[in-house]
Amino acid sequence: MKGLYQDLIIDHGTKPRRKGIIENPSAKERGHNPLCGDQIEVFLEIDPDGVVKRIRFEGEGCAISIASASLMAEAVEGRPAEEVQALFENVHGMLSGKGHDDLGKLEALSGISQYPMRVKCATLSWHTLMAALKKMGPVSTEGV
Ligand code: ZN
Repeated sequence: MKGLYQDLIIDHGTKPRRKGIIENPSAKERGHNPLCGDQIEVFLEIDPDGVVKRIRFEGEGCAISIASASLMAEAVEGRPAEEVQALFENVHGMLSGKGHDDLGKLEALSGISQYPMRVKCATLSWHTLMAALKKMGPVSTEGV
């Protein structure tokens, strides 16, 4: 990992954005990565049109898991569930070293695909987010 990307991970890992909880969330979910000990809880406020109006997370874990959650929260807030799912699939493709569309800031995590032990740190928040969204409606994570 180099330069800007590494800076972004350190920045978000030490000063995570959208950290906190939502009282009476539309959905929430916990996730755990036993390989590293990362734990996360994601809170969502979804409006009637299926847009993620607010997202917050609480968690403890390595810098990559927290940076990934922070970047994720920033990226998905304000987006409809379908777009969140498309983003998730893209991020998953990037982290597993497959092809993906340009992901802007989330590209900061692309170098992690070279460290298989850390991939689960980076995907934890996304899997937790998708599990929370799944409770809300027709979001599919099959085949990913
Ligand atoms: Zn970790």
